[in-house]
Amino acid sequence: MPNRQFLVLPWMRRLVHGAFLLFCLFTGLRFYQFYQWAVAGGNYTQRPPSVEAFLPIGALVSLKQFLLTGQYDPLHPAGLTIFIAALVLGFFFRKGFCGWLCPVGYISEQLHSLTNRMTALVRQSKRPYLLRLPPWLDYPMRLLKYLLLGFFLYLILWKMDRAALENFSRSPYSITTDARMLLFFLHPSDLALGIMICLVLLSIVLRNFWCRYLCPYGALLGLLALGGPLQVARDSKKCIDCKKCEDICPADIKITAKKRLVTPECIGCLECVARCPQEDCLTLTVFFKKKLSPFLLPLGLLILFFTLWLTAKYTGHWRSSLPDDAFKHFYQMIHR
Ligand code: SF4
Ligand code: SF4
Repeated sequence: MPNRQFLVLPWMRRLVHGAFLLFCLFTGLRFYQFYQWAVAGGNYTQRPPSVEAFLPIGALVSLKQFLLTGQYDPLHPAGLTIFIAALVLGFFFRKGFCGWLCPVGYISEQLHSLTNRMTALVRQSKRPYLLRLPPWLDYPMRLLKYLLLGFFLYLILWKMDRAALENFSRSPYSITTDARMLLFFLHPSDLALGIMICLVLLSIVLRNFWCRYLCPYGALLGLLALGGPLQVARDSKKCIDCKKCEDICPADIKITAKKRLVTPECIGCLECVARCPQEDCLTLTVFFKKKLSPFLLPLGLLILFFTLWLTAKYTGHWRSSLPDDAFKHFYQMIHR
């Protein structure tokens, strides 16, 4: 018999993921209102610091600067805090930032689960038809995200010296990246719109297209997770080869080909553990030695995330030292 209490895990994940998506939409709305106040007048809305979560490249610059100088980015501190939190969560909780919090991953999974349901309905089968790229294409495509990551790491960690970091982070360009990102989504060029539509369509037919093939953020967290303490293990003696785990795995990992899931692709979602019909066949372990309750992963992840956030908030590492009026001045420059 499967551990029936684990069946609640996928619902917990949807709840947490959905709540973070709503929070991101709320942040986007607040930022839009702030931008409108800055460039068009009207009611004042305070700039939400969490908008900096969407500036990971600037956060990587800030992280290098912090490591070199000990100075915590005063202009975009929330961006750096969220980036550090994602790295810490990635290491300790199997890339859990992607699996439990990231709104892009959630949207991508929901788009594909729609296809799953529809194909299962059309075929009148409980097993969905999953479109998979052949291995000769799938494996090289998975490398794309590492190439993108390598490009950014080379540019920032290797090429930028202290002076370049300082110049970048204090430049009007860096200060207005949040507003530029908003404008990018509000008024995308034809090319950008075409790319976004392609990504949505590809995510509908191919499971987690963006996360599996293109996201450099996820690639970085996956590499960190390789050295982390938590792993999913499979007891091949108990496995009945039903493939339920592979049908549900958002990262499309060949779970039944492995005894130990040592892979940078696993996002720690625990869908496989929850759906496996064999008791103790798939388990969450610490270094493949000690078995853990799978509930400890989301619990630990959320506790650590909120602890880091509260610590940053109450130690002055959350809100920018730049007053909102100064942001207004810079936004008006790009608006003009
Ligand atoms: S769901 Fe469990 S029993 Fe079925 S193939 Fe996967 S590991 Fe084996
Ligand atoms: S192997 Fe299991 S925990 Fe890892 S991504 Fe796939 S379903 Fe989630």
